[in-house]
Amino acid sequence: MIVFKNKHVTVFQSSIVQTNSTVIETEDMILVVDPAWLPSEVEMLRVEVEKLIREADRPVYLLFTHSDFDHVLGYGAFPKAKTIASIGVKEHSAKEEIVKKIKAFDDEIYVKRQYEIEFPQINHVIVEDGQKLTLGATVLTFYRAPGHTADGIFTVIDSLGIFIGGDYLSDQEFPFIENRKDYERTLVKAAGIVENHPITLYIPGHGQPTDDTREIIRRQQNDLQYIRKLTELFSVGNKKNELEEHINQYEFIEGIRQEHDKNMEVVKKEIVQDTSQNLWNEDLEDRK
Ligand SMILES: [Zn+2]
Repeated sequence: MIVFKNKHVTVFQSSIVQTNSTVIETEDMILVVDPAWLPSEVEMLRVEVEKLIREADRPVYLLFTHSDFDHVLGYGAFPKAKTIASIGVKEHSAKEEIVKKIKAFDDEIYVKRQYEIEFPQINHVIVEDGQKLTLGATVLTFYRAPGHTADGIFTVIDSLGIFIGGDYLSDQEFPFIENRKDYERTLVKAAGIVENHPITLYIPGHGQPTDDTREIIRRQQNDLQYIRKLTELFSVGNKKNELEEHINQYEFIEGIRQEHDKNMEVVKKEIVQDTSQNLWNEDLEDRK
């Protein structure tokens, strides 16, 4: 289903967890972001790209926002494309596990794909904040975006006003946190991007794209609040009801509630570790 379209951008949304796959075209290139989920949906993207190439032959690039299996499973459908992702994706330590997850998903719903399932090989590697990639006259600027996964990136295309976020700032999901401090810093970075780049469209990994910068910042604030409440649960205590209220704003809460439980475990572990580290340091101080 197409959930957003303008002259340069088409956002296709999967019927599974509202995953967005984006096709961007300029005179110089075609960029496909996170081609996702069902074989018929990936095929639709492939056909769209073929159509664009017929209209005007241009190189095709495939961008992965991060390494979660649903975001890389369409890799094999675009064998001629040059790929773009972070160094973390390129050097992922558990590529086989991710391929296994894709295969397990396909087996569970009995689907076959027209292409081989492989972990992506990466041609253009993103290492640092502000790194640029020039494709003809189109300049892509990247930022590291850890927190959901360590290997996430933000992509900005100034000339088109586009900000591609991966699994951040969704209207359908509270933060799914792998590292709390990184996640917070990445959210702060997102607001900086909105401030410093001429952003007119934000495309999340899941949920509705938005062309309203106030809505991007609303999501950013909302997600920061969630993380702060989560943190206070283990430091000050007593925020359980507020947290419950917070997560109940999401339409599909029963589907994502287990992610909230996982978040609580992650944050709890981080805070306990922090305090034990502090104690250890104080011990050392005492002994001096
Ligand atoms: Zn995702």
